[in-house]
Amino acid sequence: MRKRLTFLLAALVLAIAGTVTVSMVASPEAAADECYTWNRTLSQGASGSDVTQLQIRVAGWVSSGENLALDGQYGPATANAVKRFQAGYGLGADGVAGPQTFGKLYQLQDGDCTPAHFAYSEFDDNCGANNFNGGRVSAATAKRNVLRVMWQLEAMRHKLGDRPIVITSSFRSVSCNASVGGSSTSLHMYGQAADLGLSSSPSQCQMWNAGKSAGFEELLSQGYPGHNDHTHVGNKSSRFWSAPNC
Ligand code: ZN
Repeated sequence: MRKRLTFLLAALVLAIAGTVTVSMVASPEAAADECYTWNRTLSQGASGSDVTQLQIRVAGWVSSGENLALDGQYGPATANAVKRFQAGYGLGADGVAGPQTFGKLYQLQDGDCTPAHFAYSEFDDNCGANNFNGGRVSAATAKRNVLRVMWQLEAMRHKLGDRPIVITSSFRSVSCNASVGGSSTSLHMYGQAADLGLSSSPSQCQMWNAGKSAGFEELLSQGYPGHNDHTHVGNKSSRFWSAPNC
């Protein structure tokens, strides 16, 4: 209701003034959100769980080869990720997370904290089990790991022109992973990986390349054995990027 009123007022101001710049009216208040609400402006030096919540959501806005730590410490890496997020969505890029940044995040997140264009149901197929059970970590940990992957993919999707990315496989129990011929050390058993299918709108190689600056340390695609029909993205501590035909 309040949003609608603000919008009407803004429209009225625009109509009267004629040439009011967008930045003068586009300052949405940080609204409460059913998933998570930030209660303070965050900038370098801040620490806490609210910083971690922010880091999860900007983890896909890193430089090539960078991996953002979800450590609750707002250092230069977090500030730079926030800057890229802000620039990516047309906000003032100052690296400080305030009402405008939170407002954009509220727009992007669903009630269960997943980003707008990805849902747990796309990541929990698990050979038809539709859950996060039976992996190498607890279901809660797998789900948390998947959430990070989703936000990285949301960033990737936006950078690739807001085109659909189709998930063909993500979390797998140990037995599910074995049954589909996954590696015995596969990140899929941790909820740390996703396979992006051929029916995605960006090409397999476009997604492979974009994954480098979305925080993915494991990227496999065209030309890597078993990866000609999907691009695999994953989070791990050491880097392994391979796609001989990209
Ligand atoms: Zn995979």
